[in-house]
Amino acid sequence: MRRKLAAGNWKMNGTPDSLAEIEALMRMQAAPGVEILICPPATLIAQAAARVGDHPIAIGGQDCHPKAQGAHTGDLSAAMLAAAGATHVILGHSERRADHGESDALVRAKAEAAHAAGLIAVICVGETLEEREDGRAEQVVTRQQAGSLPDGASAANTIVAYEPVWAIGTGKVPGTDDIGAIHGAMRAALAERFEDADEMRLLYGGSVKGSNAAEIFAVADVDGALVGGASLTAQDFSPIVAAL
Ligand code: 13P
Repeated sequence: MRRKLAAGNWKMNGTPDSLAEIEALMRMQAAPGVEILICPPATLIAQAAARVGDHPIAIGGQDCHPKAQGAHTGDLSAAMLAAAGATHVILGHSERRADHGESDALVRAKAEAAHAAGLIAVICVGETLEEREDGRAEQVVTRQQAGSLPDGASAANTIVAYEPVWAIGTGKVPGTDDIGAIHGAMRAALAERFEDADEMRLLYGGSVKGSNAAEIFAVADVDGALVGGASLTAQDFSPIVAAL
């Protein structure tokens, strides 16, 4: 059985006041078998992990450098995130691919670094609107997935998030048939390469809200969500957790 996961990506949002939202989530009783992950900005990881303490809510980073240490001003290594209390790290988000020119090969190197530091990599893939309109969504997503996952990926250390670029922060969501087709293609491609592909978790991300979460979670091969805007407050995020 794949454990369901509600993951929040706070992106470049949050100050110490925002930690109250994590405390509110801690008071919520998630259903058995449902995991919660919050990825705040790096400045809040240590404080968030300290607030969470022994509670099962996991804390993650939003990026890491492929190297373990060195002269890379402004960057953070996977080991630094782990030492701050992170157990997961989001890698290859489309905003990083767009803003920082991250390639599949770089994302793969980052995932290797994350695994070496004992972190679970949440690797993001997703097509642009133009690629979807050209009928290339499935091809783009499976190509990104193949290029971004290292050979050492397993269900224990890797989660893949399908986030169509055109659905992020737009209120637009693909039809459930579309999500099912892409997730099915992703899992079929994983099965050709990884023995435990059936156990690997696939998240959907892009304009997930309390009002659409249940129908998205009912899609085969959707094991949870990677949520941006609606993860910033416990009020918006808790109905998504409850829908899992
Ligand atoms: P939104 O939920 O704000 O559309 O963002 C999705 C996302 O990019 C999560 O990583």
